[in-house]
Amino acid sequence: MLEPTRAAGLARLAQFAPRMGRHYAAGRNSDPGPGARQDVSELSAHVRHRLITEEDMVRAALAQHSPQAAEKFIQEVYWRSYWKGFLELRPRMWRDYRARVDATPITPAAQAAMDGSTGIACFDAWARELAETGYLHNHVRMWVASIWIFTLRLDWVLGAEWFLRHLHDADAASNTLSWRWVAGIQTPGKHYLARAENIARHTMGRFDPRGELNENAEPLDEPAPPAASTLPPADTPRGRVALLLHEDDVTFWPEGCDVVGVGFLPAARPFARAALEDGARIAAARTPRCAEAVAAADTARWAAGLGAELVMPWAPVGWCADATATIPARRARRGWDDACWPLARRGFFPFKENIPALLRSLHPPAALAL
Ligand SMILES: Cc1cc2nc3c(=O)[nH]c(=O)nc-3n(C[C@H](O)[C@H](O)[C@H](O)COP(=O)(O)OP(=O)(O)OC[C@H]3O[C@@H](n4cnc5c(N)ncnc54)[C@H](O)[C@@H]3O)c2cc1C
Repeated sequence: MLEPTRAAGLARLAQFAPRMGRHYAAGRNSDPGPGARQDVSELSAHVRHRLITEEDMVRAALAQHSPQAAEKFIQEVYWRSYWKGFLELRPRMWRDYRARVDATPITPAAQAAMDGSTGIACFDAWARELAETGYLHNHVRMWVASIWIFTLRLDWVLGAEWFLRHLHDADAASNTLSWRWVAGIQTPGKHYLARAENIARHTMGRFDPRGELNENAEPLDEPAPPAASTLPPADTPRGRVALLLHEDDVTFWPEGCDVVGVGFLPAARPFARAALEDGARIAAARTPRCAEAVAAADTARWAAGLGAELVMPWAPVGWCADATATIPARRARRGWDDACWPLARRGFFPFKENIPALLRSLHPPAALAL
């Protein structure tokens, strides 16, 4: 596994950048298996915690490829921001999901699937890979979710929650909304059916579940996403600041402020914790003091002790926002999120029309490959 540090993320970004053009476009749908992947970045856990940012990824692509050649890679990075924006404009979807998880007991059949003992060889291998590595290839995630929902006939929220427990890149928006998309309730009526032939082709024949999958299922029938609300305003902090980092944005820095202390909230998952410690170390190197862990209940006292205003990066809808909701901090948002999230009012296709303008609005402008 790639080390949970910004330095390791940047090194991987530099290594993968030459493949962000035609290699990515041609190879991203195929999974030759752990240790053999060359055409996907495997950087999702880093970007999810913002050890590297979406902007770092897009700039790396544009520095080596034309916008046309890197179109597919750039689009995938924007899928992430689209999902984040979609949930941010509809926080009720996360609350409903959490309530349904709490009300849905894990059945023996769901447990057998999570243990990798369904008898469907590809599914069982991927269940083990998920538990052992904390990563699955995007196409594998689609196949696994589809088999879970349509062949095994298990409740999608239990599958989504299983992913969240294991993925190092576990993300409330990308995960919940992707599971809904596979089920056919995100874009109502359009579901994703895993097909044996497609699995055999894109796993280079490592798996061939012919005759084992339900390839004729109907989409699930559940309520469509609610209408979008408006994005809540963020704060613009100034002056003396006590910066409190959390797992959703470990490299945030409030530009134009006098940061006199860096604290970080505890994170439960080992990857998130290590990412947070790395981000806090990097931030603290720009201040007179060392980074320190601060319990949620002590944050106001900690900032008052520094004679500074408490400032946090914005926590998007998800468990970190839930856990930090009562912390009396000013919440600042990155320009990237301010630009992308309000555009996630409808489907990805209208959102994607904005990508050229979003790229042009990067400041400073992205260095373009000639
Ligand atoms: C059922 C299901 C559950 C998922 N759960 C998560 C999750 O919890 N967290 C998460 O980060 N992604 C999730 N994804 C999206 C996607 O599978 C992963 O982001 C991607 O596989 C990460 O691998 P990579 O870094 O090698 O991606 P690359 O192909 O190298 O893509 C570059 C970056 O673009 C973003 N990206 C790529 N594909 C997608 C996509 N389809 N949706 C959103 N962003 C994308 C990721 O940030 C990724 O790091 C899920 C997809 C499905 C189908």
